[in-house]
Amino acid sequence: MNDRVSDVASAAPGPVYRAGLAVGELRYQRCGGCAAAVHPPRVLCPECGSQELDWRRSAGLGEVYSTTAVRGRSGVHNVALIDLDEGFRMMSRVEGTEPDEVRIGDRVGFLTADQDGEPIAVFQRTETKGGPTA
Ligand SMILES: [Zn+2]
Repeated sequence: MNDRVSDVASAAPGPVYRAGLAVGELRYQRCGGCAAAVHPPRVLCPECGSQELDWRRSAGLGEVYSTTAVRGRSGVHNVALIDLDEGFRMMSRVEGTEPDEVRIGDRVGFLTADQDGEPIAVFQRTETKGGPTA
């Protein structure tokens, strides 16, 4: 019988990720077996199957990999895949820019937004593909 009390490393990955968002951190996992950056949070590395997944704090900077303006009942919103500089990709959205003006290759930075009372990860453009916006 293993009666060891859970620590962060063995805690369910989803809550560790959400606890990060609650304090304004974008957390991801780094595999001790193959060094892959892992997101969304998992129990096993999707690359090599290792359980040695270490939690890391992302700098929150990355680049738009793909972007779509989705038209729904509540208007138009953006859905984007973001490639973070640490080497993982996540689905999110780019705010502060017209949904159909987000471009592949735009540099973006992480921030949290409130969605139904829960913090979620969103991004804002830091510079456009053509150069700094400011
Ligand atoms: Zn691995």
